[in-house]
Amino acid sequence: MERTGQCLCGQIKLTINDDNAELDVCHCKNCQLQSGSACAPFLAVALDNLSVDGDPKCFADRDTVSSRTVRRHFCSDCGSPAYVVVERAPTTAYVFSGLLEQTSDLRPKVHGWTTTKHAWVEITEGGLQYDMDSGLSPR
Ligand SMILES: [Zn+2]
Ligand SMILES: [Zn+2]
Repeated sequence: MERTGQCLCGQIKLTINDDNAELDVCHCKNCQLQSGSACAPFLAVALDNLSVDGDPKCFADRDTVSSRTVRRHFCSDCGSPAYVVVERAPTTAYVFSGLLEQTSDLRPKVHGWTTTKHAWVEITEGGLQYDMDSGLSPR
């Protein structure tokens, strides 16, 4: 199944061809800072299965708990975060699922960094939870 998505202004368009893409939710402080939100839901897809139209800017986020660089791609016009690539899994793109058009079938499989989860966020749908190590599944 093909999924499509775009940033708020439409300059960046994403197409994903991956039937096994899994939804992971990150509650880490850096994702909160980048997204301005309580958590960041990511669709983990192989980079090869993601095509990107447009020219996202990349912020190299080096101030991480693991001290490994996280490359955060975003739209430089409207500011939408688009996708993230972590050093530990360089062939995986974590796509912010808020950009996607088709999301009704998605349920989180893993919640990472729940030590910094906002208190009002209740995890009700099951799925694995990790205090620290994100446990986000590389593809
Ligand atoms: Zn944009
Ligand atoms: Zn995170």
